[in-house]
Amino acid sequence: MLQELDRLYGEIAVCQKCPLGAARIRPVRDTGDPRSAAVVFVGEAPGANEIKYGLPFAGEAGKKLNSYLSEAGLERGQVYITNVVRCRPTANGGRRNRTPGREIPVCGEWLARELEIVRPQIKTIVSLGNVALKWLCGKDYIIGDWHGRIIPVNGFNVFPMYHPAAAIYNRDLDGLIRSEFRQLGSNLGRAEYNLEG
Ligand code: URA
Repeated sequence: MLQELDRLYGEIAVCQKCPLGAARIRPVRDTGDPRSAAVVFVGEAPGANEIKYGLPFAGEAGKKLNSYLSEAGLERGQVYITNVVRCRPTANGGRRNRTPGREIPVCGEWLARELEIVRPQIKTIVSLGNVALKWLCGKDYIIGDWHGRIIPVNGFNVFPMYHPAAAIYNRDLDGLIRSEFRQLGSNLGRAEYNLEG
């Protein structure tokens, strides 16, 4: 499994399937050990800090994610984390992040392959925010309608959650997100969260 992921990330590192490839400084890798992780977290796309360190959720949203994980009784090392888009989508001549758009179907093919590699071990996927929810479900779902529910997709159980960055901009979401992480923590391993029970 680890060698397959290394090979996949070797291909991602030289990908030129969309214009973001030309501006790539370094690819952002996955984190966590898929052989022992009970859950995959799928984010949207890297920002400046993720590119700097080459790791997902390395900035402010990552600090939020760490604190939410502790509500679920989980640490970073116990979960597998990846993104829908692997290079940083920018606007204003590279000065700010933007929500990915036409990159999603192209880059999402890497995620599809990655999920196939980890599938034998991991059955539960937490989608963080709208981009991951829509891509994983293949539908125009919005997180406000689907957070905290379980959606069976292609043999995985998708548990949609708000993106941790949403709570940076809207503090009212913080309590809700914390309670849904607690819900995740207390239910991981139950049949409806994990198809293998
Ligand atoms: N936001 C994301 O969706 N992914 C990251 O890796 C960092 C911030």
